[in-house]
Amino acid sequence: MSEQRPPLEIRLCAPRGFCAGVDRAIQIVDLALERYGPPVYVRHEIVHNRFVVDGLKAKGAVFVDELDEIPDTDQPVIFSAHGVAKAVPEAAKARNLFHIDATCPLVTKVHREAEILHRKKAREIVLIGHAGHPEVIGTMGQLPTGAVRLVETEEDARTFTPKDPDNLAWITQTTLSVDDTAAIVAILTERFPSILAPHKDDICYATTNRQEAVKEVAGDVDAMIVVGAPNSSNSQRLREVAERAGCPFAVLVQRASDIDWNRFAGVRRLGITAGASAPEVLVEEIIDAFAQRYETTIDVVTTATEDIAFALPRQLRQAAAE
Ligand code: SF4
Repeated sequence: MSEQRPPLEIRLCAPRGFCAGVDRAIQIVDLALERYGPPVYVRHEIVHNRFVVDGLKAKGAVFVDELDEIPDTDQPVIFSAHGVAKAVPEAAKARNLFHIDATCPLVTKVHREAEILHRKKAREIVLIGHAGHPEVIGTMGQLPTGAVRLVETEEDARTFTPKDPDNLAWITQTTLSVDDTAAIVAILTERFPSILAPHKDDICYATTNRQEAVKEVAGDVDAMIVVGAPNSSNSQRLREVAERAGCPFAVLVQRASDIDWNRFAGVRRLGITAGASAPEVLVEEIIDAFAQRYETTIDVVTTATEDIAFALPRQLRQAAAE
């Protein structure tokens, strides 16, 4: 059987998969379940990955879209890593719900930035991001309606009409394409030379590093698999980055069972990466599925090393220490 298997060289991107914000958010739900017992309520998917969400459901997490689906309870209510509008913790407080915030600290940094630009510097804020994404809803919801203007594309940046062209600032969603965002910022800066930029990039280290690794591999492989969910912004961006960097086809795959094997028939060199919300166990599952059909060799392509970890919320630090 083994001699019939065609060869396949796998180029495995590093870094890939879980980032510090996702790791922390999952740990928060796990620790809350340990410390307070089930049920623990979670508003929205804690991270955009069905495998992770189903695993937490099995332990007693209850996922809801809105707080009004939660009965009056003393059990914890956790907000997802993507962040929430200010109205959400306010509504939780009004109902005396015990809430724990799993918003990634790098998203919180963008929230605080938006507040300072609005309240202290009185700037009109241009948010570069994708309409409807929970992070964008959360960031826009830090300020009164109308204070933040959403720009999604280069075309939006060209046609956007500010209230005062000399009084603008831009911020971004954390999980965007680095190159697309640079193009949008270039248009905004050319049109509005006095527009303020963030002190430090809003696109986070994890998004940037995963895109860099994909660029390194993409031009050198026949196909690329991005392990991740369709509603995961950073995973979708990785797929786009791969295609733009010269990969003939790049697909998003959630589980090995999703793979359309016909599409990989002539592939001899395959790139694999994973979005920031995809666990390594799913990468392993997909590599194993290829190893059953091909004579595989694995070459890890490392473009950065990461050692970032975020502190847990105060309520759970002791549970983590025990
Ligand atoms: Fe935080 Fe970036 Fe991970 Fe989002 S992708 S959770 S901003 S580290």
